[in-house]
Amino acid sequence: MMIVRTIGELRFALAKQRANGWTVGFAPTMGALHDGHRSLMEAASWDGCLGVASIFVNPLQFAAGEDLDSYPRTLDADAAMAEEAGISYVFAPSAVEMYPEPSWTTVSLDVVTEPWEGESRPTHFAGVATVMTKLLSIVGPCRAYFGEKDYQQLAMLRRMAYDLNLDAEIIGMPTIREDDGLAMSSRNRRLTPEHRAEAPIVSQALRLGIAAIDAGETNPATVEALIRDALSTAPSADAPDYVAVVDANSLRTPDHLTGEVRVLTAVRFGDVRLIDNMGTLIS
Ligand code: AMP
Repeated sequence: MMIVRTIGELRFALAKQRANGWTVGFAPTMGALHDGHRSLMEAASWDGCLGVASIFVNPLQFAAGEDLDSYPRTLDADAAMAEEAGISYVFAPSAVEMYPEPSWTTVSLDVVTEPWEGESRPTHFAGVATVMTKLLSIVGPCRAYFGEKDYQQLAMLRRMAYDLNLDAEIIGMPTIREDDGLAMSSRNRRLTPEHRAEAPIVSQALRLGIAAIDAGETNPATVEALIRDALSTAPSADAPDYVAVVDANSLRTPDHLTGEVRVLTAVRFGDVRLIDNMGTLIS
């Protein structure tokens, strides 16, 4: 496995591999890798593809006052995990390599980015869409793997690939969780012991919502209230930024739940903001 720091070096290496008949699978990440990332990297390397992972903490997707500076950076451990997962190239560019000067181009999407995370973090999705357009252009994968953990991001990237006729197939991967249900996240390591002990309430609350839907509840407001009640039992959690009970494709709240449904939330424990979501199908 090789760690590559520059766009030119990576393009050169991948062009040679393509000439040898390889197609590329891609797992983009911001590093501080855990088993959720591992599942993406394994999938990128397994499907008969040459596995490429990127590790880049993208400044464009953090607003002023968010956790860009404190975001964990653990390149040595990340490289070891990537190698174990079968990755052939880790692309770990500097911010200057990716943005040598202020960019005149921003990629942004309407509709899918407007509610939920879009309301809480108004500049976030344009930062993700812009860096992903650059990374997909640099790496040129046939398949790119993303976690359902960031469900709205996955929905945005699927739509972006469709709207822009991108070559890469966008593949969603299930959320990997700790034994107590907490969705794995690079941010979990910044939770205090007290917050870590209470953080599983997030997945428990969502699971309660899903159980109610599975038991026949079709009123989104009732499901939302159930989830909010459960979240309010964690004394150290702030009030959630949002609790969304939505159609899994439009991400809008319908009058009555039907078909594929998703429940999503964002909850802050101290200065760590956790997001999670779960889905079910009403048949
Ligand atoms: P990040 O490094 O947080 O930007 O995440 C990089 C990719 O890993 C994104 O596609 C995330 O959705 C995915 N990811 C993060 N956490 C998990 C998880 N617990 N399970 C599955 N995928 C995840």
